[in-house]
Amino acid sequence: METLTLQAPAKINYLLDVIGKRPDGYHDLRMIMQRVNLCDTVTLTLAETPDIKVTCDSGVAPDGPRNIAWKAARELLDHANFNKGVTINITKRIPVAAGLGGGSSDAASVLMGMNELLHLGLSDQKLIEIGSKLGADIPFFIFKTSALAEGVGEKLSPLYNMPKCWILLVNPGVHVSTAWVYRSLQLTSSSELNRLPEFFESVESIVSILSNDLESVTIPAFPVIADIKSRMMELGAAGSMMSGSGPTVFGVFKSFDVAEIARREITSGNSWFAATVETL
Ligand code: ATP
Repeated sequence: METLTLQAPAKINYLLDVIGKRPDGYHDLRMIMQRVNLCDTVTLTLAETPDIKVTCDSGVAPDGPRNIAWKAARELLDHANFNKGVTINITKRIPVAAGLGGGSSDAASVLMGMNELLHLGLSDQKLIEIGSKLGADIPFFIFKTSALAEGVGEKLSPLYNMPKCWILLVNPGVHVSTAWVYRSLQLTSSSELNRLPEFFESVESIVSILSNDLESVTIPAFPVIADIKSRMMELGAAGSMMSGSGPTVFGVFKSFDVAEIARREITSGNSWFAATVETL
């Protein structure tokens, strides 16, 4: 039986500007996206019958056709006109609905992994096209490098040689609906976008651009997000920001040890998810 196991990483947004609302209801964005080494494990096993089976150990993300990994497999098999099936096992480590792109990363791994297992020979560009129909962050995970993402996330420009840093992730576990965040966002009339550096030569240059327009919705509703940001700064982060539509907050650290001390302090007396990870 042919099997392939892939590590599907999480992402954080160093920058998330909402540019405007499009006629189709989605928003045009400008994002700087970075993968980190907190990974789900996605195992694909080819089956002779044409069924797609998905099991996911999280208890929160669904099994079966409601899992985005199932939808990715369906799209790819239909595209390739292939009558084999696949069994997909997902071990979740990335918190679900956390602003860390876990579902999109699992789906991207399914597209890339099945392309390999079935010897389809589809280009990354083709996989990005297929993935962009399923989720806005999927193209970025197929791109496999830090990126400036524009449009709804499908226009990607590579950012090479991003400085390595330690990232402390803290998720207070409050439920934030991405759809609610975008619905509630008050768009300010076309203010000038900040100029971005051509490249990022230091941790300081990353910290200088940290910004997320969606905090204007989530922080008033969930002040714990602002509290975690302040705690991270008091405990030695060079910068701190909410990722995506939240609620995960990340801190940028130059030292693993300082990040770990901050993790222990911030999670003492609560049961929040927290992890010190490295940029990829
Ligand atoms: P983004 O940063 O792209 O907005 P997110 O990290 O906030 O993503 P996900 O973890 O991808 O959000 O989950 C969003 C929703 O998708 C959840 O309601 C979850 O139940 C559903 N879902 C379906 N499949 C998966 C999967 N494989 N992993 C996680 N969530 C999944």
